[in-house]
Amino acid sequence: MRGLDALMIAPKINLSWLARTDRVDNYPGLKEVSGADLLKAFEDQAASMGAQTMHGTVRQILPTDSGFMLLVENDVVEAKTVVLAMGAAKPKLLPGEEELIGAGVSYCATCDGHFYKGKSIAVFSENDQGVEEAEFLRDIVGKMDYYPVKKHDVPGDFNVIDERPTALYQTDGGVGVETKETKRSYDGVFVFRTGMPLSMLLEGLAMQDAGIAVDRSMRTNIPGVFAAGDCTGKPLQVAKAVGEGNVAAIAAAEYIQKG
Ligand SMILES: Cc1cc2nc3c(=O)[nH]c(=O)nc-3n(C[C@H](O)[C@H](O)[C@H](O)COP(=O)(O)OP(=O)(O)OC[C@H]3O[C@@H](n4cnc5c(N)ncnc54)[C@H](O)[C@@H]3O)c2cc1C
Repeated sequence: MRGLDALMIAPKINLSWLARTDRVDNYPGLKEVSGADLLKAFEDQAASMGAQTMHGTVRQILPTDSGFMLLVENDVVEAKTVVLAMGAAKPKLLPGEEELIGAGVSYCATCDGHFYKGKSIAVFSENDQGVEEAEFLRDIVGKMDYYPVKKHDVPGDFNVIDERPTALYQTDGGVGVETKETKRSYDGVFVFRTGMPLSMLLEGLAMQDAGIAVDRSMRTNIPGVFAAGDCTGKPLQVAKAVGEGNVAAIAAAEYIQKG
C-alpha cells in the first residue's frame, strides 16, 4: 500500500463478528454472501496487495520514539502507525479484576513474568495461545495453577484447576481467586483472553459513548493511532467498517509519508 509495509494482526481462531455472520444482505454490490466468504475475500485481496498477516492477540501497545511497540503474545512488533479494528466485542472482566490491573493482575507474560520469579501464579486461559504463555511463565515462576476457562488442549504436566474463576480480590501482597468451589491465594494472576480491555491495550485512548473517539480522518486522540469499524461505534455494519478502514489506511499512510 503506497509502497509501505502493512501487517494485519488477529487471533488464529477468528472470532470476528463477520466470520460468525451467516448471511450479509446489505453489503453494496453483493446480494447474498456469507460472512465467512466475505472475510476470506477481504483477506485474499489484502494478501494479494502485499499485506502480511500475523496470528495472535495484541496484549499491549506502547508508544516509542519512532512509533509504537506492540506486544503480540510473546513477540514484539514495531510499527510507525497503528489502526485499531478490534470490533465491538469487549472482553467481560471478572468482578474485582479491573481494580487489580497492575497490582497483581497481568495480561502479558513477556512484560510481567519476571516480577514473579520463584513466586506462585494462577493462569486463566481461553485458548492455545494461553498455553504458550503459560509454558513461558512456568520456567520463571515457583508454582503455577492453570485454569482452562474455555475448552482447549492443555499439556499433561500442567497443574490444572478445573474450576471456573468467579471473582478476584486483593490479599496481603497478592491476589485471591474465588471459584464456586473454593478460594485460593497467589502472588499474581495472568489472564489470556482473545481480546483485551481497551484501558490495558493502549493507555490514554479517548472514548466517546461506547466507541473509540475519532475524527473524520479516523484519527484517535493519540498521534499515529487510527481506529476503524465497530470499535468506533454505531452503526455496526460491514460497509461502515470497510469505509472507515479505507479512510484510516489513507490517513495512516499520509501520517508516515509526512514524517
Ligand atoms: C450475528 C451477526 C449478524 C450480522 N449481520 C450483519 C449484516 O447482515 N450486515 C452487516 O453489515 N453487518 C452485520 N453484522 C455486523 C458485522 O459483522 C460487523 O459490523 C463487522 O464485522 C465489523 O467489522 P470489524 O472489523 O470492525 O470487527 P470484527 O468483525 O468483530 O473483527 C474484529 C477482529 O479483531 C480481533 N481482535 C480483537 N481484539 C484483538 C486484539 N487485542 N489483538 C488482535 N486481534 C484482536 C478479533 O478477534 C476480530 O478478528 C452482524 C454481526 C453479527 C454478530
